[in-house]
Amino acid sequence: MSDRRPNLLFIMSDDHASHAISAYGSRINQTPNLDRIADAGMRFDAAFCTNSICTPSRAAILTGTYNHINGVTTLDTPMDNRLVTYPKLLQDAGYQTAVFGKWHLGHGPDHDPAGFDDWLVLPGQGEYHDPEMLGPEGPRGLTGYVTDLITDLCLDWLERRDRSRPFALMCHHKAPHRTWEPDARHAAMYEDETIPEPESFWDDYSTRSGAATVAKMRMMDLEEKDLKAPVPAGLSENEEISWRYQRYIKDYLRVVASIDDNVGRMIDYLQAKDLWDDTIVVYTSDQGFFLGDHGWFDKRFMYEESLAMPLLISYPAEIPAGASSGDMVVNVDFAPTFLDLAGVPIPDEMQGTSIRPLFSASAPPGWQTSMYYRYWMHRDRDHNVWAHYGVRTHTHKLIYFYNDPLDAPGARGPSDPPAYELYDLLNDPLEMNNVFDDPSYRAIADGLIAELARLQKKVGDQPHTKQE
Ligand code: CA
Repeated sequence: MSDRRPNLLFIMSDDHASHAISAYGSRINQTPNLDRIADAGMRFDAAFCTNSICTPSRAAILTGTYNHINGVTTLDTPMDNRLVTYPKLLQDAGYQTAVFGKWHLGHGPDHDPAGFDDWLVLPGQGEYHDPEMLGPEGPRGLTGYVTDLITDLCLDWLERRDRSRPFALMCHHKAPHRTWEPDARHAAMYEDETIPEPESFWDDYSTRSGAATVAKMRMMDLEEKDLKAPVPAGLSENEEISWRYQRYIKDYLRVVASIDDNVGRMIDYLQAKDLWDDTIVVYTSDQGFFLGDHGWFDKRFMYEESLAMPLLISYPAEIPAGASSGDMVVNVDFAPTFLDLAGVPIPDEMQGTSIRPLFSASAPPGWQTSMYYRYWMHRDRDHNVWAHYGVRTHTHKLIYFYNDPLDAPGARGPSDPPAYELYDLLNDPLEMNNVFDDPSYRAIADGLIAELARLQKKVGDQPHTKQE
């Protein structure tokens, strides 16, 4: 008897912000193939990560738990591969499982991919051109462009799979992670165009607490390796900032264009092999990214462009074409969702909730209307972002910069004075105006402080207590 359980194709890129996807209304690029997933399925407009950096978000996705539970709080905390993950449970239930591409959860016997029949992953961040990859048999050198190669590995695996069983395939792109290196095919794209600057590009941080001002992710913090050309002589400072943005964003979008082409290859394959209707196709990224928003590149902050994840899901059996959902989804919900769809029991230790009910209707009563976020890596070595946690609802966001390294690996002292920020997302969607000290927001601020405490308790995290 044939196994009618759905297949899963989980495509995750690294640092691809939803505002660089045309299905999300991008003003700066087109992604026709990603849009095919949205057109055939559902676009989630309120999907958020619980910690906006690579390693922690990946651990939250795989385990369905928050980082204080899975222990992957920073970039310096590799994941213990004995943890329960959704690929392991799918494998135990008879699925064929594989991961190709970016892993970034550590290497060696305690951290290599586990729960996969086949795997080949980039060491650490990996290279864009001619990457070395690591598999169960050790390192292997590949020739070509990383996004094409990862797609080739996925397509090869699909061709040689056991057709009597369903598959769960993780296609994890390295792109569009810094340092942005386009392939030859897209190298000249946008050459004669000027990409519009985002509305918040010239944010002066005047209403914010201290963290934004000291973060090293402004256009002037881009390095030679990012710019790949000498700064033209005679530019004013503002002209140089704008010039740097163009250098940055064009390479970012070129790298995204290659992802889009390669997602198209995956979709073409599924459709040609008559697998499309039986396969849950997911496109997401481990977090968002600042595309010049607030004058920045990178992520880490709880501000919208970094907090929001793109999430597109096609599954014709359950999702009507061209649908969208504004209900709240967080990355710890992914694992329970995939288990639910495969008919595999969701273990109690998973903290997320299956979002399957959102596929066919609006949220059931009691659905989450607030989410908890925490960034642990105080004064991180690359970008000097300060430690914070917070709560986002559909209308407001409260951020508490506790500004203390505690003992989080990779976080650094000294600590800084703590501070709150509050944003009114309905009246100030770009988060330009911190209203925490505005007396007319006192009741809202107090309500959010209480909600933050409730969420922290619910997920089992500890509030920061000031050390005197
Ligand atoms: Ca990332």
